[in-house]
Amino acid sequence: MTSLPAPAKKKLGLVIDLDICVGCHACAVACKEWNDGGDFGPLPDDDPYGAEPHGVWFNRVHTYEVLPQAPATSYASTTPRTHNPHPAPAAQDHPLDSMGLQQPAPLIESRVPQMVHFPRSCLHCETPDCVTVCPTGASYKRAEDGIVLVDEDKCIGCQLCAWACPYGAREIALPHPKAATSDAGRKDSKRGTMQKCTLCVDRIYNETLDERDRQPACVMACPTRARMFGDLGDPDSDVSKVVAERGGFALMPEFGYQPVNRYLPPRPRRDGSEAAATASVPAEEALDTAQLPPLLRWLDKALSR
Ligand code: SF4
Ligand code: SF4
Ligand code: SF4
Repeated sequence: MTSLPAPAKKKLGLVIDLDICVGCHACAVACKEWNDGGDFGPLPDDDPYGAEPHGVWFNRVHTYEVLPQAPATSYASTTPRTHNPHPAPAAQDHPLDSMGLQQPAPLIESRVPQMVHFPRSCLHCETPDCVTVCPTGASYKRAEDGIVLVDEDKCIGCQLCAWACPYGAREIALPHPKAATSDAGRKDSKRGTMQKCTLCVDRIYNETLDERDRQPACVMACPTRARMFGDLGDPDSDVSKVVAERGGFALMPEFGYQPVNRYLPPRPRRDGSEAAATASVPAEEALDTAQLPPLLRWLDKALSR
């Protein structure tokens, strides 16, 4: 089994703003492109539009419909395994889907549903069992910045770490069962090691890149700036400040893995009651949208539905 290092002062991670993520999948595609062409590729992606798609993605985006909990309060998530400061009171009465996430509650009032796009990748936890279960030392957490990585040369593909991760953040590159004779099948059969988000460790310290490009590929690709990267161990960093201001939360803290990444909650949407909407939006966020550029006006309209 593998030991964890002493807690690092530096905690590099991502902050993902669920209020402005539009579910475009640009982050997922940019992640795939960067990692497929680098040290960690090729990442299989077989039968992507077929009945049995099969592949490795370090970052996946899920979309859920959520209902406001009640007028003049915040939303009620359909994903109660996500730590939510405003959980739906009766959410546990509804079935889980194949991801283990809660199904939407039936509409019982004329409240306006809200779409929430939820990107999911490794959270670079501080005390993750994915590391400690590894029998070979392949899975490890870096002492200097807290990034969790896999050493492919040591990995035997036992998948214990994938079982240990409650976030589904690890994926193994195996041949597609129906692609044994395809090029992809032959390529994949040389693999069999565990794959996961590296926090783009080969970008963020890469001195051959311009300094402004030393950020994760997903962060750079996001058209709405819903993804931010930085040191969450430094209370004065931009990411720590935005987490403090917006009430950023950790995903499923009840597991005790202490995820480093944070999510910023969606703001309440209008539900037809102007008074309720006005009461629930902080004064400093009441923008005069007429003054915004056309793209932002369109985004504001789309996100305000
Ligand atoms: Fe490990 Fe999963 Fe935490 Fe990533 S999210 S560090 S894979 S337990
Ligand atoms: Fe370790 Fe690889 Fe097994 Fe995961 S699959 S526990 S990294 S040897
Ligand atoms: Fe993918 Fe890099 Fe973003 Fe991780 S940080 S999800 S490896 S692009």
